[in-house]
Amino acid sequence: MKVLVINCGSSSLKYQLLNMQDESVLAKGLAERIGIDGRLVHEVPGRDKHSVDKPMPDHAAAIAIVLDALLDATVGVLKDKSEIQAIGHRVVHGGEAFTKSALITPEVEKAIEDVSDLAPLHNPPNLTGIRACATNMPGVPQVAVFDTAFHQTMPEKAYLYSIEYALYEKYKIRRYGFHGTSHMFVSAEAAKLLGKPIEQLKIITCHLGNGASVCAIDGGKSVDTSMGLTPLEGLTMGTRSGDIDPAVVSYLMEKEGLNGQQVNDLLNKKSGVLGLSGVSSDFRDIGTAAKEGNKRAQAALDIYCYNVAGYIGRYAANMNGVDAVVFTAGVGENDTYVREQITNYLGYLGVDVDAEKNSQRGKAMDISKANAKTRVLVVPTNEELVIARDTKTIVGGK
Ligand code: ADP
Repeated sequence: MKVLVINCGSSSLKYQLLNMQDESVLAKGLAERIGIDGRLVHEVPGRDKHSVDKPMPDHAAAIAIVLDALLDATVGVLKDKSEIQAIGHRVVHGGEAFTKSALITPEVEKAIEDVSDLAPLHNPPNLTGIRACATNMPGVPQVAVFDTAFHQTMPEKAYLYSIEYALYEKYKIRRYGFHGTSHMFVSAEAAKLLGKPIEQLKIITCHLGNGASVCAIDGGKSVDTSMGLTPLEGLTMGTRSGDIDPAVVSYLMEKEGLNGQQVNDLLNKKSGVLGLSGVSSDFRDIGTAAKEGNKRAQAALDIYCYNVAGYIGRYAANMNGVDAVVFTAGVGENDTYVREQITNYLGYLGVDVDAEKNSQRGKAMDISKANAKTRVLVVPTNEELVIARDTKTIVGGK
């Protein structure tokens, strides 16, 4: 069975075509600048990248161009588009309605639309992608895989904010958490690596990418996570502030004459390690600047690592123990300095990282010293694979 995985943003569309017989990636790519002009970069493993500049007035046009590339005589991998037997979509917010992935029906579309207020930047483009696929590939079953679904097992004490309960009832203001697909995947891989059933493990997963979140996973279930109502809460991120005193919002509105949306933009786009360092949101640039003696870049890294270590300690306390800490995503998988600094705080938990093992990258591995009580693992994430697997299961193909 061939499954097309789609991750649709407001002006971009990432895709991967997988052969589910062996879970291999047949092709992947990115359509960008949708609604502006249009650019596609299409990649077939083992071959040169192929780019196309073609007008993409909307997402339906972008999907049509992706299909052209997949069917192309030289850069394509399909003879006929009917070979695509199912489509899996990443949908950011499933609210409280979705605890697992779902076959897309008119009712499911409506439910995704109903929670769009909670993720105004993400859910509308996700829906656009679903509709654009229905236009280009009518009759092909589509599945929605939600970033929030894995965290629906959190207990009330972890998901309720300490505000008037009526506001939760009226607006569903609560912690939802994101990156669920990734936290689920890497915790399951970690259990395999440790050779123990996940039901017997307490794991803390650190998804450290552009966006970043930590998740406490007890017996395979998410029991707490650092992102909240939106992906702004929690850790210091590339451009997002993470946790601040909520009173900063009204203070900034007053002092800088900003409205709510402008403060929201400031906290989402100009804060985090970018705002702190003034250098970049990319950890490679910040690391280089810090090595060259840039004090603000060094401070940004120090704050970042201190925050991650703080969340790990909090979740270890809340779960009354931890068997393994797992690092994943762009920074977690690659930044050996960040891993070293974070784990330096964790000696009291029985963490003891082997510097030689920590210097490696790009594969699933245990980087702890042989006798360390709490294991530290690096596990590359693969959200597309989870989406494709769920899609296959729900559609029922081979
Ligand atoms: P996204 O949240 O967009 O999916 P990724 O998980 O791909 O992000 O992470 C992107 C980030 O990973 C980049 O901003 C960069 O800071 C970081 N990164 C990627 N490679 C490296 C590396 N070799 N060293 C340090 N940081 C890296």
